[in-house]
Amino acid sequence: MKNQVTVHLRPGSGRSYDILIKSGGLAGLPSIIRKRWPRRLVFVVTDTNVSRLYAKKLQQGFDDIGVDNAFLEVPPGEESKSIDIYYALVGALLESGIKRGSLIIALGGGVVGDLAGFAAATVMRGVDFVQVPTSLLAQVDSSVGGKVGIDHEAGKNLIGAFHQPSFVLIDPDVLRTLPEVEFRNGLAEVVKIAAALDAGFFGLLEEASHRITRANAGLLTRVIHHAISLKAAVVENDERESGLRKSLNLGHTIGHALEATSDFSIRHGEAVAMGLVAEAQLAVTAGFLATDDYLRLVRLLGRCGLPAKVPPVTNPRKFFRALSNDKKNTCKDPSFVLLRRIGVSLINVRLPLPMIQALVR
Ligand code: ADP
Ligand code: ZN
Repeated sequence: MKNQVTVHLRPGSGRSYDILIKSGGLAGLPSIIRKRWPRRLVFVVTDTNVSRLYAKKLQQGFDDIGVDNAFLEVPPGEESKSIDIYYALVGALLESGIKRGSLIIALGGGVVGDLAGFAAATVMRGVDFVQVPTSLLAQVDSSVGGKVGIDHEAGKNLIGAFHQPSFVLIDPDVLRTLPEVEFRNGLAEVVKIAAALDAGFFGLLEEASHRITRANAGLLTRVIHHAISLKAAVVENDERESGLRKSLNLGHTIGHALEATSDFSIRHGEAVAMGLVAEAQLAVTAGFLATDDYLRLVRLLGRCGLPAKVPPVTNPRKFFRALSNDKKNTCKDPSFVLLRRIGVSLINVRLPLPMIQALVR
């Protein structure tokens, strides 16, 4: 089906799940749940922002067709990916009568997806989990791949698991209410996927960039579908991130270091945009990437309203510490995913430190 992507996990295991991308799809969620999981107790985890906008109608939908449900809210923002909120959430789930055969639905952005997904992975040793991502970032990025988790004082996402959802519903209509800055954050991941994996998709984004707005659900359906299909194909081949999947870290080595150096005052998507530009500059310097392709990337990010230049690094020591501590690096020298050309990337490229120092000076 055109609006559906099926993710096949571990070839031969028979495990797979569907991602349905459908404008207005949220209203149909209760009947999908009733059909696929009859007589299950459903726990919807959401944050207070998303709850205010969408919970009432959804709860009414569940009530109308007789699906037993409970809605649980956490505060919005990264602070909710804490051990305390996780503990409180698990407590609330237990208190509301969650059982091994219950279903947890994550309704919200990446924070809710990670937190509720981690709760689903761990409560009663794991219950089934459905994702309804409501931010563009969560729709294109965190809803494929099964990574769930919370933060530790020592760093983001350091406590976590792989827990694949049983079903994902993406309704582009909910992006209308997403703050513009959050929308742009998600676009950074879309540009990343296109740049790393698919020149044709990158061309489509270039051609349509001025029409990609929060309200253009038709175009967004196509863009999200395309991004997810690419990500799903990569994840299917490499569920645990040993090889090919690393290409999805394009822009993220520098991006993460910039985020950490700013004490996370730079949003993830903005950091990824800057990371994409910085790493493309490195790719040009190292002789992998043509300047024309570098300029195409800078131009597209700019048209998406994203920061398309490398910011001055005010605390280089912190930056380089973050760079070499990046948990995705398996040894000390920073290793990069570098663009060879638009749509083609190389993984595990180690670059001499002075080259990076020259870039952020
Ligand atoms: P991300 O999805 O970028 O990882 P969050 O989960 O923190 O991060 O979501 C970003 C912000 O957008 C949060 O404040 C969240 O409450 C809000 N949000 C998510 N989805 C929507 C939506 N559809 N409408 C309005 N606000 C939303
Ligand atoms: Zn990312």
